[in-house]
Amino acid sequence: MNKIRFGPAGNSESFYEQGHQSSVEMPKWLHDMGLDAYEYSVTRGIRLKESTAGEIGEQAAKWGIAMSLHAPYYINLASREEEGRKKTVRYLYRSMEAADWFGAKRVVFHPGSAGKGDREQAMEAAKKLLLRVLEQCSEFIAKGIHLCPETMGKKNQLGSLEETLDLCQLDESLIPTLDFGHLHARSQGGIRTAKDYENILDSIPGALGDRRGRAFHVHFSRIEYTAAGEKRHRTYQETEYGPDFEPLAGLLLQKNLEPVIICESRKTMAEDAVRLQKILQEKFSLFNEARL
Ligand SMILES: [Zn+2]
Repeated sequence: MNKIRFGPAGNSESFYEQGHQSSVEMPKWLHDMGLDAYEYSVTRGIRLKESTAGEIGEQAAKWGIAMSLHAPYYINLASREEEGRKKTVRYLYRSMEAADWFGAKRVVFHPGSAGKGDREQAMEAAKKLLLRVLEQCSEFIAKGIHLCPETMGKKNQLGSLEETLDLCQLDESLIPTLDFGHLHARSQGGIRTAKDYENILDSIPGALGDRRGRAFHVHFSRIEYTAAGEKRHRTYQETEYGPDFEPLAGLLLQKNLEPVIICESRKTMAEDAVRLQKILQEKFSLFNEARL
């Protein structure tokens, strides 16, 4: 089977209920559940110490967990003021630095706000600033750490699929984060069938080449939305909300893709990552039976 990794964004409620207190214990906990990825969130600011990050990273390496980092929410590549642009460069630089402490190879971030003005102008500004970020972060990029702009769930945010791929075209080191919940919310429930997923997956190699068309980053959770887009993330058991993982699982196997899949369910992200992994494994068994 192709190597597809699964893990949670942050720590499940059950991790704490079982008496654990520190994220240093997460890698082994995840390994014991059969998971092999972990996204650490510094979405409200980078407050952790280098030594703590180093300890978590050591545990992750020991237990075979691929780490990624989610950068702060305050980032806005399309910021209109120089002060805001400086802050964005600094947050991304510090996120890359923290990723290096962890031994994480991927830094996920939200591109920013489209603002009230012209969307194309906002995108031009975003690309210009992202080039500045890439230059500032070159020492970390040289170490193989990738910045991964995310597709966003609200229409007033930069981060449609096209915009995200457009940003990633600026540099080979940029890897897209496909948040399928966000894409579903943004398109008012547009992800229902395998074909809907296939249209998304097939757009990547054309824009970014085969390597990034295979080994992209994924955020997955069911999602509640309004006319403006994303409202809140739901758990995988709340089946009244989309999207479903099953059609995607089939395509990942058929197309031999190797993304890292991070589950962003509320409270049960690790348990739901296991559910997604099971769905994939069941698909894989069915495929093999069909081949015999
Ligand atoms: Zn995100």
